[in-house]
Amino acid sequence: MFRVMSSPDDIQRYDHICSRIDGALASAGRAPGSCQLIVVSKTQSADRLAPLVQARQIELGENYLSEALPKIEALPDSQIWHYIGAIQSNKTAPIAQHFDWVHTVDRTKIATRLNDQRPESLAPLEVLIQVNIDEEDSKAGCRPAEVNDLARHIEDLPRLRLRGLMSIPAANQQDPEAPHRALAALLETLKPHHPHASCLSMGMSGDLEPAIAAGATQVRIGTAIFGPRTKP
Ligand SMILES: *Cc1c(COP(=O)(O)O)cnc(C)c1O
Repeated sequence: MFRVMSSPDDIQRYDHICSRIDGALASAGRAPGSCQLIVVSKTQSADRLAPLVQARQIELGENYLSEALPKIEALPDSQIWHYIGAIQSNKTAPIAQHFDWVHTVDRTKIATRLNDQRPESLAPLEVLIQVNIDEEDSKAGCRPAEVNDLARHIEDLPRLRLRGLMSIPAANQQDPEAPHRALAALLETLKPHHPHASCLSMGMSGDLEPAIAAGATQVRIGTAIFGPRTKP
């Protein structure tokens, strides 16, 4: 039997994740507030999100454009939206028009299109390079060896601002911190040439603590707030 969870439960679970983040930062000897929670709202309706958005100042992450656009329309204009899904090149225009952050830039063609399509009336789009950190064949993200060239390409695009790196490591790692440490090390190699690139978007419901221990500045959490998702 499934119970439709009411929004007070969502708010409680959101607050609980915030305390887990605070605890993980303290355990790692990191500054309070140095890791941001992005609430991953894919498959959750605007009706369900509205009370949480009203009660807490949150930022939302979405994976699918067709699902995200009506929610962006329904929720307040001031809402910050992060695009965290795969990007097809024919879908870059609505992403450039409606999102504040894009975590999944993994090739030059996508970066160029987002830049060309970012409306002049909006601030530059904040972008992260998605890295296939465990170099699995089937996965999205550029290879670690390609990050430098892609970062240089993005720096030449005036409507984009390179903010850092993102990854989705394979689940069930022997050492759950290892892929996160690898991404953190890769960011260190970029920082001297790209001073705005200081963000590490890594860690989801299953690996929040190891990601924060390794230096995550943004964690992307869905299931631990909303419960298991039914397929869209
Ligand atoms: C769905 C998703 C998340 C959230 O995962 P949970 O395990 O539900 O917390 C985070 N990042 C990306 C890229 C996702 O697609």
